[in-house]
Amino acid sequence: MPCEKQPRFLILYGSQKGQAQSIAEGIADEAAEHGLVAEISCLSRHEEYRLERESAPVVFIVSTTGDGEPPDTTLKFVKTIRAKTLPSDFLKNLHYALLALGDTNYANFCNCGKTIDKRLQELGANHFYATGHADDGTGLEVVLDPWIEGVWDAIKAALSKMSSSSHPPLKETLSDMTKENPAPTSPPHVELNRLSLADNKTPDSIKAPFDSDTKLTLGGLPSTEVTGLSSESDVAAAKSAQEAQTDQVREECVVAEPSLTYSLPPLSQSSLNVPALPPPYLEATLLLEDKAEKFNSSLHTETFYEVPVTNAVQMTRGDSVKKALLLELDISAHPTMTYMPGDSFDVLCPNRASEVDAVLLRLGLQDQKHQRVQLAVRRDTQKRGAQTPPHVPDNCTVQYLLTWCLEIRSVPKKAFLRALVDCAGDSRQKRRLQELCSKQGSADYNRFIRDSSLCLPELLTEFSSCTPPLSLLIEHLPKLQPRPYSAASSTLRHPGRLRFIFTVVELPACPGRPEGRRGLCSGWLADLVAPVLVRPGTDESSCGQAQLPQIHVRMRLSGTFHAPTDPTAPLIMVGPGTGLAPFLGFLQQREIERRDSPDVAFGETWLFFGCRHKDGDYLFREELEGFVSSGTLTHLKLCFSRDAAAAAAGGEEAAVPAVSQPPPACPRYVQHNLRLHSQRVSRLLLRHDARLYVCGDARNMAKDVNDTLMEMVRAELQLDQLDAMKTLAALREEKRYLQDIWG
Ligand code: NAP
Repeated sequence: MPCEKQPRFLILYGSQKGQAQSIAEGIADEAAEHGLVAEISCLSRHEEYRLERESAPVVFIVSTTGDGEPPDTTLKFVKTIRAKTLPSDFLKNLHYALLALGDTNYANFCNCGKTIDKRLQELGANHFYATGHADDGTGLEVVLDPWIEGVWDAIKAALSKMSSSSHPPLKETLSDMTKENPAPTSPPHVELNRLSLADNKTPDSIKAPFDSDTKLTLGGLPSTEVTGLSSESDVAAAKSAQEAQTDQVREECVVAEPSLTYSLPPLSQSSLNVPALPPPYLEATLLLEDKAEKFNSSLHTETFYEVPVTNAVQMTRGDSVKKALLLELDISAHPTMTYMPGDSFDVLCPNRASEVDAVLLRLGLQDQKHQRVQLAVRRDTQKRGAQTPPHVPDNCTVQYLLTWCLEIRSVPKKAFLRALVDCAGDSRQKRRLQELCSKQGSADYNRFIRDSSLCLPELLTEFSSCTPPLSLLIEHLPKLQPRPYSAASSTLRHPGRLRFIFTVVELPACPGRPEGRRGLCSGWLADLVAPVLVRPGTDESSCGQAQLPQIHVRMRLSGTFHAPTDPTAPLIMVGPGTGLAPFLGFLQQREIERRDSPDVAFGETWLFFGCRHKDGDYLFREELEGFVSSGTLTHLKLCFSRDAAAAAAGGEEAAVPAVSQPPPACPRYVQHNLRLHSQRVSRLLLRHDARLYVCGDARNMAKDVNDTLMEMVRAELQLDQLDAMKTLAALREEKRYLQDIWG
């Protein structure tokens, strides 16, 4: 077999939302350029690999989900390698590299990758390359790009060592390898594929039109040197890029600021290292109605229940910074749809019609939007394991595909930008897209695309000459994910009902987005319930006769974020803003349990709640005060961040107090109240088996609360920082410190 002669390696991925899979596929696609054959498999396909017998290097790419859990597809693999019966040399012949994906906004960063790595080591496996921990919170590419850059040399080094006759375990020779190749701590620097203007499939070394030391003379054209051009088309392409640069330079005389579509020197004059163009692997054919099988869209939503929204209430005053809504769903027709307080559920939401229309328009498909899409893998594809995406149902229409299947709001990855370069007609736009996906343009990518959460419709608006084919969108856009919400009720209090609360997310205007936009699901829900919405100060909705809207939902059973089974255990709940949601369910349940079991000595309950203004967004004020009156809630600790700030600063906003400062007399945030009650809370937690729950914003609040807890533990137990961290980690392990946080 010819391919037996080519060095082979194996890629195994564990993906929840497709991120790890797409990185794994990217590596597999690039393998041939490095003279390697990559076999790729999902970790869930156990029959396709045998690690204990694997004679080639293995590259693992694994995500982490939830509170540090493995992706669903990786659960069984983790369970298998964790088996205590496995001998400590079970994987002594395995040579592997591992890239863990995670998000530092959440607890247990990269936990799945770390768990697998640790266990593989315990089973005798050998690293041939340093483990990478890529952080989605700060940008995966910061670690991802250099890690991939270095992995090729590491694989080759591993292959050569493994094929040597003595075949010593790499663990023993890792130090030798490190000398040649500093990968384990800093991946070797490998020149990325350089931009080729003519042949996008095989990028080779040519200089992009402007060299960094290009001289500009007033009124004159910059003199540049283009090397390595092999054909007339190369030269023509380079010339047109050069003209584009010239235009851009002229433009820069007027536009002093870089923007999504314009760059300034040095980037605009730099040679670029752009990623290799992933060869297209899908073919989309549009079928006329009579030739296509009828598409049954209900099959696509079969795991969801369609339920009516029976109540919709605006919880915040009209002038509040954020609008919070309460929605109540009638789930009584679906007896299997059960939940406990603390569980969350998924809402299926469509892409915005106006954005779908804009994409259809750009693709030139408005007149064909009702035609059916027949998708196939291209016959000539070199992509290993290429398959049509499972989230695109057979025979769906173009409009259905763009509305319900593809996440058109996702932030385009660099590989997608790279592919879009070839779909842009305007040379300036081509160059800018090249910059944005290049190594040199990383800062601009982060600033104008990633940090602003720019999406495809916005990008296409700005890059007006870019007309990608539908198949490219299907290859690069991830699956449209349902959006999770926490239940904000108990079925003991609201039988047959499921309530939830959310704020309508607002993304501000930014370069590339002239006007702000609302979050996809929260904006859609707000529009959907507008006709039946009960607004503040009114008892009824403005349109009493309106038909109840319906939405598709399915339960996600969290398994851990539940009230303790022991009713005597003290309960400490921290939930500012809509982070209050699960605790409403906890307290409703507790109130009924107390009524039904008068002899039980229930543990004390604390709720730390915060919002901006007492009169503007204090959610469920009456219900919370009722819990206090009935004794269900022992301590309600409130703070009003902007009332307090205004009071402290004599009407002006005060600076946010640092966590380490003493708590202000007038606490602004939930963590300040925790510090005010530090001793009591710490003792309950550390000496009286209390459970502590945190729900709400992951990016700031949950981190600050965690820091505060650390200080409280330090003070209470007289520990140093490291031991305080260990104590908190142990509480997490024991499921006595639980988070349900959202970024
Ligand atoms: P929010 O924006 O978190 O604001 C609530 C309060 O927290 C405000 O008083 C705010 O004060 C304050 N705050 C700001 N920074 C803080 C910090 N570092 N530490 C402590 N408090 C801080 O409230 P929200 O709009 O209701 O958002 C809650 C978050 O929870 C969102 O991220 C949401 O996605 C998430 N969540 C989602 C669900 C769900 O079901 N999907 C459920 C619960 C929570 P200032 O604004 O005055 O600074």
